[in-house]
Amino acid sequence: MSNDSGATESQKYLSTRGGDYGLSFETVVLKGLAADGGLFLPHEVPVAHDWRSWKDLSYPELAFRIFSLFISSSEIPPDDLKAIIDRSYSTFRADEVVPLAHLQDDNLYLLELFHGPSYSFKDCALQFLGNLFEYLLVRKNEGKQGKDRHHLTVVGATSGDTGSAAIYGLRGKKDVSVTILHPKGRVSPIQEKQMTTCTDRNVHNLAVTGTFDDCQDIVKALFGDAETNKDLNLGAVNSINFSRILAQIVFYFHSYFSLARKSFSFNVGDKVRFVTPTGNFGNILSGYIATKMGLPAEKLVVATNENDILHRFWTTGRYEKNPVQEAKSDGSVKTDACKETLSPAMDILVSSNFERLMWFLSKEFAAASGSDDQSSKKQAGQDVVSWYQSLKATGGFGPVHQDLLENGRRSFESDRVSDSETRETIKTCYQQTKYVLDPHSAVGITAAKRSLARAGSYKHISLSTAHPAKFSEAVESALKDQAGFDFEKQVLPDEFKALASKETRVTSVENSWEKVRDIVKSQVEEDLKAEASG
Ligand SMILES: *Cc1c(COP(=O)(O)O)cnc(C)c1O
Repeated sequence: MSNDSGATESQKYLSTRGGDYGLSFETVVLKGLAADGGLFLPHEVPVAHDWRSWKDLSYPELAFRIFSLFISSSEIPPDDLKAIIDRSYSTFRADEVVPLAHLQDDNLYLLELFHGPSYSFKDCALQFLGNLFEYLLVRKNEGKQGKDRHHLTVVGATSGDTGSAAIYGLRGKKDVSVTILHPKGRVSPIQEKQMTTCTDRNVHNLAVTGTFDDCQDIVKALFGDAETNKDLNLGAVNSINFSRILAQIVFYFHSYFSLARKSFSFNVGDKVRFVTPTGNFGNILSGYIATKMGLPAEKLVVATNENDILHRFWTTGRYEKNPVQEAKSDGSVKTDACKETLSPAMDILVSSNFERLMWFLSKEFAAASGSDDQSSKKQAGQDVVSWYQSLKATGGFGPVHQDLLENGRRSFESDRVSDSETRETIKTCYQQTKYVLDPHSAVGITAAKRSLARAGSYKHISLSTAHPAKFSEAVESALKDQAGFDFEKQVLPDEFKALASKETRVTSVENSWEKVRDIVKSQVEEDLKAEASG
């Protein structure tokens, strides 16, 4: 798939490790991860000179404007792109798709990103990705029969939230099989139900005896194995897929304009702070790209839970795993490197999309010392390769150059929020406003309040990434003493109540990538047979 001549520099893609250049958007979406192990980025972030004129666009219209800068019209014709976008956001329960709520504090707003089919912010990207996959595959397969058809096998790991959103995005789609690995017994009961009650033929759930990181390692091993990759034609839905980063850019523009409509003391052109509950650094990276396109963010605040590799990076300039050893009640030592917290969708040891930020920062560092664009990109690719070799070999890299770090700190601040602080924020927010936060959103609000204490003159938009009903244990335990609080009545959607009685389907598997490979192979064979017989 070579690129057509009509594409601009922001519509052609490269790998953060230097091995690919000039790829089409279609290639990037279908491959997910570059062959050299790097992540895809456009050659250039497009500057949206007319962004102010987008103020009154609807969510789908705004998405169309933004996506068009990254996708050549000769790859996906505008009318087709519009149709994909409209289909993707018509499944949301809120008219605005991502409504902005005002919390009590004058300068604090909460961006509700959880009105999609699985009640997670991930729907916003995965509904789009599902329709995009189907569009690209059906187009490739026009007039092809049986074995000649191009079939995509999506494999992903989830600590709960990605999985249900991916499944809701891909269920029933033509020419796609989806297998989602989750750590057995370690996802919330509702999330497990959301995934395993999805009994569409092309959806497969695997419960792995291990942690989320084990699941992620298995997925990486499958992608890294040339034979499996070729046999199964693997596609990724984890936030390494650039189309997800792309879809999330819309949040930042849309909420900025909502704020300008809602607040008399805020005008288009004013600076705002965004606070993003962060795990794999996908969502906040989208915010960073939005600011590069021209959106005036004064700072992006990275809010982490106790798995705080990102907060430690911004504090020290060193990016390093920090294996946690916890004594279990039976006296044995649990050697999971990742802590289990109240906000499990942010329980990560390393952040996969951070590599993309490091590429940008390295490129800018090289450019600042006089390198031209081409050499700066080359330097960035080399730096990323050596940092990630070091991460693999020694569990960390850095400290990075002080100037590189300072440049990053012009855009980012960070904060770390403990479980007890998360619980406290859920409680005080409810007491003051009757608003029920989920634990991930509460990590964001805790960090936002601290940011307001440092920089209170700025309006803050804190991103709410999940519906509170998805994390019932944390919410109920935080609010159990509040007079009159009734989880079932106030929080639980009817749709969730119905899950309990639905049929489920799930396969258990050991923590072994070869075993997973064999299962995926046989499931895909079944899917192909079923598709062939209509
Ligand atoms: C995935 C997820 C996050 C973290 O988002 P990243 O893009 O991985 O940083 C935060 N909250 C919830 C509820 C999530 O599902």
